[in-house]
Amino acid sequence: MKNNKKIVIATNNPGKIKEIKEILKNYEIISLKEINCKTDVIEDQESFEGNAKKKAKEISEVVKMPCIADDSGLCIDILQGWPGIYTARFLGEEATQEQRNSYILEKMKKFKDDERKARVKCCMAYYEDGKYIIGKGEIEGKIANEKRGKNGFGFDEIFEINNGKTFAELSSEEKNEISHRKKALQDLKTKLEKYE
Ligand code: IMP
Repeated sequence: MKNNKKIVIATNNPGKIKEIKEILKNYEIISLKEINCKTDVIEDQESFEGNAKKKAKEISEVVKMPCIADDSGLCIDILQGWPGIYTARFLGEEATQEQRNSYILEKMKKFKDDERKARVKCCMAYYEDGKYIIGKGEIEGKIANEKRGKNGFGFDEIFEINNGKTFAELSSEEKNEISHRKKALQDLKTKLEKYE
């Protein structure tokens, strides 16, 4: 089905935009930059879904078009899902990714291999005229014993998937094929197609 509906994506991250364009190729995907939208939404909700919905609604109302927004993070089972929604800011706004990853490794030092289970979650929210459609994706793995790999970003160097490699040891193609974001987008796409 060809559907040229315009949808704004609430991100300026080129990697995310590329991934979303590839998966939602039946839609005209527009980035914030293309329409010169500088609206900054504060992520102050208590769940990935809450933050994604808030971003999608606020941006949609500013740009007067349907909008997709996402929120994702790392959840460690033995720490009751921490850092979760605080993944980007649990050491404050000034800390570096290097510091956050070192902090997690230090905190996990006392846990044995079978206690290091973690998952990366993503929620994608679509908003249009008062209606939300939600897609969710998750990948299971564990916190590695040390930083490994040079690709990727964020916590990629400390999140190990079931084949023993960290996300940072995968090529971007390999990672994008199995990622939490890809799964959430596929889920959203299926639901969007039913909605049309
Ligand atoms: P956001 O929801 O994409 O803004 O990401 C929230 C936090 O999770 C940020 O600290 C990101 O760096 C991190 N993050 C999101 N996706 C990934 C990923 O695929 N790999 C590593 N870190 C990620």
